[in-house]
Amino acid sequence: MEGCADRTIGSLDGRPLCRKHFLSSSYKTLETISAQIREAQFQERNAEAAGRLLEQCMRFAADIACAPEVPSSIERAQTLDLLLWASELHGRLRRSARVPARIPVLLRSETADRPWEEKSDTELLSRHGAQLVCHHEVNIDDRLICVRLDNGWRAEARVVWFRLRQSGEIEIGLEFLTNENFWGLENGATTSPSPAG
Ligand SMILES: [Zn+2]
Repeated sequence: MEGCADRTIGSLDGRPLCRKHFLSSSYKTLETISAQIREAQFQERNAEAAGRLLEQCMRFAADIACAPEVPSSIERAQTLDLLLWASELHGRLRRSARVPARIPVLLRSETADRPWEEKSDTELLSRHGAQLVCHHEVNIDDRLICVRLDNGWRAEARVVWFRLRQSGEIEIGLEFLTNENFWGLENGATTSPSPAG
């Protein structure tokens, strides 16, 4: 958040935030989603984005709860409250399935000033995206090329969120821009790759 010097622990809706600002921003996010969740139009158009936001809230909250620096009792109470509220709202969204599956991919950044590529494995798949670990620094909205190493398919993807794990690894969420069904997902199951074990 602008003007804040505290350590960033992740991003919510594309904005990097510290712990304190994460808590206040999350409450606003949950209030907004809660106010609209009964509307059919909201469920049709915004369930995916809302689900992503709620997942970010839950990950953040879990990180705060597990962090070595002990939060104040107020922050701890807020964190638990957020976690329970976000998870309740998440359960009320109508979304496409998430599939835990490990598919080897090559990620490539083709920015002129700082091109890089690395191999990674997916952790979670959805029809339009994936969650995986990336060892290069990324920003929200960065465009990456994602190539499946099992079949050579490629798609352009956008970074929709990232999160710094306590291990120091960066976990990222990708959304595909160019391929409707990159994973070959049918009714919530993958057709070719085997599930992660
Ligand atoms: Zn802050």
